Amino acid sequence: MNLSKRVSHIKPAPTLQISAKINELKAKGVDLVGFGAGEPDFDTPDFVKEACIRALKDGKTKYTPSAGILELREALSEKLQRENSVQYSPSEIVVTAGAKMALYLIFMTVLEEGDEVLLPSPYWVTYPEQIMLCGGIPVVVPLKEEKGFVLSVDDIKPHVSKRTKMLVLNSPCNPTGAVVPEEELRKVVEFCIENNILIISDECYEAFLYDGKRFVSPASFSKEAREITFTVNAFSKTYSMTGWRVGYVAAPAKYAKVMADINSQTISNATSFAQYGALEALKNPKAKEFVKEMKWTFERRRNLAYQLLLEIPNISLVKPEGAFYIFPNLSAYLGKLGSDIKLVEYLIEKGRAACVPGSAFGAEGYVRLSYCVSEDTIREGIRRIKQALEELS
Ligand code: PMP
Repeated sequence: MNLSKRVSHIKPAPTLQISAKINELKAKGVDLVGFGAGEPDFDTPDFVKEACIRALKDGKTKYTPSAGILELREALSEKLQRENSVQYSPSEIVVTAGAKMALYLIFMTVLEEGDEVLLPSPYWVTYPEQIMLCGGIPVVVPLKEEKGFVLSVDDIKPHVSKRTKMLVLNSPCNPTGAVVPEEELRKVVEFCIENNILIISDECYEAFLYDGKRFVSPASFSKEAREITFTVNAFSKTYSMTGWRVGYVAAPAKYAKVMADINSQTISNATSFAQYGALEALKNPKAKEFVKEMKWTFERRRNLAYQLLLEIPNISLVKPEGAFYIFPNLSAYLGKLGSDIKLVEYLIEKGRAACVPGSAFGAEGYVRLSYCVSEDTIREGIRRIKQALEELS
């Protein structure tokens, strides 16, 4: 096969694979509880859909500027100032086909062959794959369950080398739900400034922070912090628009221009009418209520899932502070099966409950449950998991 070296490592996203497996079994009529999906179970708000339909009817169906329509970049610039206290001009914002493409553009833009990227672990599955696709080397920074999987500057230091180019921050984190406290985040950013390390701040879960916590963007800390940071976000989770594929990256103009140029030579632009839907999500006063409702719903589900999982013997568990995932340690149950992949298969076949194996996130022995399902489904699913695990031991 004439495959390039660049793609020789690539694997399909296991999270999407599990979702596909769940849908396939459900379509066959299997009664399965799916904790796999990394997307809200809320429908996209009607006012967003209507704005998109209006755009279609008004003929907004042609190429847009490769960085995205100006109205959307202006609205994002206002949002970043108002909610994140960072000043980015519209020319420093590039609208992309989801946050995934934003991340890919960043790695393409800054990585040289052999550059190292610090990746706190457990990490979201896509980071290492994209880093390698762009010629970089992911350098895993293991985080401890005992410390709630929260990153500290001391975790990073031993992994820095002459080739360290970037650090990936993802707080709230997929898959652990961990949130880095502002004080520690400041120390991490200071360290990166002093050591010439660029930062990606993946803020996809900024809307989902619990226990009254407030979200902070690293780029807001100082002028120097803003200079080294790529702020990434999307409409996917906040407005339940995963299929629309609209995300964005904000970064100093020298980077933004190149990223828009890559867009122009690859996808051209994020889908025109989807951008108008995204614009409505930022502009419509009803959006705040929608996001608030979703956040409260997830917070209640988090509390329920946490409480129920704790009732399973020999499990250990960190209480997530954000996002919509919970990441129990089931290593006590691996014995007979040997791996978390086998454990997940067992839970699907015996328990009729599906989650994602921790090894996909660099954490063997754990499983990720997404609580983007109703409270009744959480109760039933965790009951099944508990029973299947009891039968195993
Ligand atoms: N970053 C993180 C941490 C995510 O969990 C996801 C989605 N699972 C993304 C980025 C990608 O988001 P999008 O669907 O907008 O590409």
